[in-house]
Amino acid sequence: MTRIYPRGFYTYLWLREDGTPYYVGKGRGGRAGKRHRRIGNAPPQERILTQSFPSEKDALAAEQFFISFYGRKDLGNGRLINFSDGGEGGANPSPAERKRRSERLRENLAGKVFGRLQAREFNYEKSLTTKQTCWDCICLCGGKTTVDSSHLKSGRTRSCGCLKREMAIARNKTLPNLGKHYRKRVSIRPRVLIETT
Ligand SMILES: [Zn+2]
Repeated sequence: MTRIYPRGFYTYLWLREDGTPYYVGKGRGGRAGKRHRRIGNAPPQERILTQSFPSEKDALAAEQFFISFYGRKDLGNGRLINFSDGGEGGANPSPAERKRRSERLRENLAGKVFGRLQAREFNYEKSLTTKQTCWDCICLCGGKTTVDSSHLKSGRTRSCGCLKREMAIARNKTLPNLGKHYRKRVSIRPRVLIETT
């Protein structure tokens, strides 16, 4: 027999066999009895509690209240398997969840070769701080570097820096390192170098 859920918006609790809630949701129609992606199948009907609300806003506020009341496992403050605080926007994913989301969204460059570099591993920490998609790369020369994926794909960065150094040597443009102030003049008139040393 099909269970009849409340009309309009409601919150629902999915209960463990011992009657304690393990998931809190907000929905309408048959949502409470349906499989949730990443959460799993709904429990048997007798372990689903619903409470109806006059508006979606009220149901969201109640959802948020229940989640904060029972606490989240992923944040370490409770036993709910919810991945967000609920309510409007469903915000506050845990750090692990944020990482999973960003991994789902980004292009997998692992193993791909860009010039002398091979992308090895997504660098989550650096990506967070730079707000770019950064990959740890190894270079043909044995060097290691972390590069923004857009620079890899556009060809702007093709080595750990060794390529530039080699090209500079090839063009015979290497100069003693006297700081940029000197280097500029030196490259135009080598005589200056002799005068300043
Ligand atoms: Zn290199």
